[in-house]
Amino acid sequence: MTSISGFVFVNDMELGRKYGTRVNHTTIEIKDIDGTYTVLLKLFPNNLKSTYLLDDLDSVQSHEKKVVLKFLKPNHELLVMSDDVDKVTNFLKDLRFLNKNLILNIGESFLSNALKAFGYINNNPNRMQNFNPAHLRMIALENCYLPHLPEGIGHLTLSSLSLNGSRLNMSKYGQDLFWDWMTKDNISTSLNVLEMNSIGLNKLPFEIIHLKRLQTLSVSNNKLTHLPHFIGELPQLVTLMIDGNSLWYFPEILLDKAYKTLQIFNNRFIYLKFNKEQRGNVEFTGLQNPPKLSDVSVLSLINNSIKFKRQEIPRPLWNSYDFVCRCRLCKKLFVFDEKNQKFTFSIPKTEQMVRIESIHWQFFKCPSCVRLENINA
Ligand SMILES: [Zn+2]
Repeated sequence: MTSISGFVFVNDMELGRKYGTRVNHTTIEIKDIDGTYTVLLKLFPNNLKSTYLLDDLDSVQSHEKKVVLKFLKPNHELLVMSDDVDKVTNFLKDLRFLNKNLILNIGESFLSNALKAFGYINNNPNRMQNFNPAHLRMIALENCYLPHLPEGIGHLTLSSLSLNGSRLNMSKYGQDLFWDWMTKDNISTSLNVLEMNSIGLNKLPFEIIHLKRLQTLSVSNNKLTHLPHFIGELPQLVTLMIDGNSLWYFPEILLDKAYKTLQIFNNRFIYLKFNKEQRGNVEFTGLQNPPKLSDVSVLSLINNSIKFKRQEIPRPLWNSYDFVCRCRLCKKLFVFDEKNQKFTFSIPKTEQMVRIESIHWQFFKCPSCVRLENINA
């Protein structure tokens, strides 16, 4: 058996997901299992995370304490950061031996320079000091305590940001400042991937509406009870990971959208039961009231794409964002009243989804359209 341990980072090229095991004794083992050489990724001695066939190993690259194994099926890159050069050398020696004996065809193997860029950061602290954060494209602030996220992050041209597993300061005051970075021009025109898995989020920050280039939003394993309709204002969003929350329904604006990947399992969709009255064609009532001033303000902020810091608008307006949606008929934005919600039941459109099933979609009609309908009835 051949093995190496260290921190392991997985780059899932199929799903466009990058994640680290973040356990520094994560092990990669190559084992002959009933005549098939298998690569096992183990978090702990008895905790198997995933398996690959050695046959599917396409190439190996290494530099000092790091090794990258590139697999074809699934299309994954595993980066192992070991704490010892000798371990890497021995592992590569074993791998070469296997490669020869099993007559594998591990291509473009053992490039020694491929990871030099990583090496500089480790070997030469001065280099790190001169490091210019303006060149950063990906930031992972994972599994740490983040009392505050500097607003300056928003001035970087990041394509990917991950806060996975971190503990945020979500006190009343903490929330006032935490999301300001999303309102900056650079980040709102550059960020493609935002991952906020397992951070105890109970509400999506409305500032997300500014991240117009967002393609992947991953907020798995949080405490979200609803997905606000403003998520429909992100035109490029094609990958949504929202599994492991407490969602009952989706905003109907997303029903027309075809996702590349949608992960929605482990929510509460199946528990939503309607009585006949709710399902039937009940007349909308209470819609003749003139809109409140706060409603008009929020709509104007959204319609004019005005960027602001949270603390610059009155606190009650923060919540209004959760009640903004597009009218099912005229597609105009308005502030809804949950009393008038209706649901359709349908399967989301997606290329890839785990455990596909029909879910409920919440929708509203705006007061003008309801009035028109009533006149025409
Ligand atoms: Zn309407």
